[in-house]
Amino acid sequence: MVQKADKLFINAHVLCMDDDFSHYENGAVAVVEDHIQAVGEMDILQKKYQAQEVIDCKGKILMPGLVDVHTHVPMNLLRGLGDDLRLDVWLLGYIMPVEREFVSPEFVYLGTSLACAELIRSGVTTFADMYYFEDQVAEAAAEAGLRAICGQTILKFPSPDADSYEEALASTEKMIKKWKGHPLITPAIAPHAAYTSTVDILGSATAMAQKYDVPLHIHIAETAQEVEDCLNEFDMPVVPYIEQFDVFKAKVIAAHCVHVDEREMHKMKRYGVGVAHNPTSNLKLSSGIAKIPRMLELGLNVGIGTDGVSSNNDLDMFEEIRLAALLAKGSSGDPTVVPARTAVAMATSMGAKSIHLGEQTGSLEVGKKADLILVDINTLHNSPHYRNDPNSIYAQFVYAAKSTDVTDVMVDGKWLMRDQELLTIDIDQLLPQAQSLASEIDRFLVERFQSVFSKLIAIGGAEEQESYEVQIKVKVDNPEQVITNLKESELEILYHRHYHEFDTYFKFEDPEEGWLRYREDEFIDSKGEVENVRYRLTLIGPQREKHFPHDVLLSRSRFIAPAPHSLRFYKEYFKPKDETYIEKDRQRWKVSFHDIEFFINVDRLDEPDLGTFLEVKSRTWSLDDAEKKAQVAENLLELLGTQSKESETLDYVQIVETQP
Ligand SMILES: [Zn+2]
Repeated sequence: MVQKADKLFINAHVLCMDDDFSHYENGAVAVVEDHIQAVGEMDILQKKYQAQEVIDCKGKILMPGLVDVHTHVPMNLLRGLGDDLRLDVWLLGYIMPVEREFVSPEFVYLGTSLACAELIRSGVTTFADMYYFEDQVAEAAAEAGLRAICGQTILKFPSPDADSYEEALASTEKMIKKWKGHPLITPAIAPHAAYTSTVDILGSATAMAQKYDVPLHIHIAETAQEVEDCLNEFDMPVVPYIEQFDVFKAKVIAAHCVHVDEREMHKMKRYGVGVAHNPTSNLKLSSGIAKIPRMLELGLNVGIGTDGVSSNNDLDMFEEIRLAALLAKGSSGDPTVVPARTAVAMATSMGAKSIHLGEQTGSLEVGKKADLILVDINTLHNSPHYRNDPNSIYAQFVYAAKSTDVTDVMVDGKWLMRDQELLTIDIDQLLPQAQSLASEIDRFLVERFQSVFSKLIAIGGAEEQESYEVQIKVKVDNPEQVITNLKESELEILYHRHYHEFDTYFKFEDPEEGWLRYREDEFIDSKGEVENVRYRLTLIGPQREKHFPHDVLLSRSRFIAPAPHSLRFYKEYFKPKDETYIEKDRQRWKVSFHDIEFFINVDRLDEPDLGTFLEVKSRTWSLDDAEKKAQVAENLLELLGTQSKESETLDYVQIVETQP
């Protein structure tokens, strides 16, 4: 008996991507409403089905749509922003400041719409996302007609859409309730990573994922640094660390997993964790190469993701699939690992399983959603082809075909692209909006990068207000005598401290920028042991000091900021023209003299070896005040048994500068 279908695809090379890798060289697929009704030989299906629309595929590949298992789609608007940088400099120096300033629901909607257009053109029918204002990702994806897992980001610090993680959790729950049960959108919760989460975030996110039975999307072991930090802090790598909070009892999508060890892989397999492999992103940010062949051997479900456009810089899944195959071979020295057919499975059926949507999509099987694409394999770069080996069609797809060969895309039984024409998104309207926003961001960045000061502000701000100091600095030949004089004087000593200081001074092209000092302060206790270490940045303003009679000087505007990142980070971020390194042993007294507070520093310069200097200084806010303090400072110097000499009053930095 002839049955009715809405659509009948004929004359197609059908790749089912089911567990048996069934394929039909002269195949057909029947679609009824949103699902696949039948798959098989064309002669049989043509006799069996009468369809409203018959699509002659003209020998093209008909296959399940591709699954992009890890994205941050709104970041399409940040394409090409801060390339060729290290992950921390890129993220903290560029992306996060721009996100804080610009990311809004409108930004997310626009970025997602553009990304959906790009995804559809590259044959993607499902993507798994993680970003802010994820409700708008869901809106835009649903409107474009794509299937998506929309994971709302949870961070332990304020984000563009939440001042606190409690707020982020509350908006996630609202988003989950709104979208749960939608035919295309699967809401999800996305604690960004272990190192950006608190214990409470991991626990609450897991509980929410379980309560609503939605996926939990998280970055795991993306960099060696992340693993090292976790080992240092918790004495275990990332997977067992988050296992403690039952995270893996949720349906986890684990992005990257570049630096997981054998035991962690076994653990992930046991919990059914899906792995999102992002080869371009891992290479571009130099994160490393994930052990994909081993994960596949252990039976983990590994999907392929583009990651956000900022670390890729496009959403071309064809590039990603090819790279996944090539990278595994090149890095293992074994060309048989990740064969083409496996790579295609990772981008379709296995990819769908890795994001816990394997029941719905990822293969052309009866009852599954009609998420499918047509790929023209008769183009120049695809020709000629061989068919003596049944796997050659997969090899052709992975190694020769390009995303531009995708001609038609259907999701949930509805056309999103026909003959390469996008049907649900008007890119001519979106592109000018994106460019005008990019120009705005350009202006913002140009302004920010104008001065060292504004760059300092952008990565966390300067903590202390501008201030000046009256200071005298003299070389002393007998520091012990100075210290004895100090102790035997009637000075009121407020405290005494002992430090080892390791200073790196950054010098910039424009002398008006002044110096930026990265200081590592080791506090030395009475036993001579390092008690504590502090890292600080100080921006020492340009040379605007006023010289008083003799050699007391009023020096400089100073901005002090904590320095939570590495020296390497600051070098790459501030890009100084020159650097000067100074190491010294500092004894510091805070004293009160004539009702003025002074710091007395006895500094032994070890690197470069320049002898010992006595420094007397006091903070000041006005010139009148400075003059008075300068006089008192001279008296203090005398009390310590020394006196200033014009020629010796030098700043360390200047001393080092004038050394041969
Ligand atoms: Zn990511």
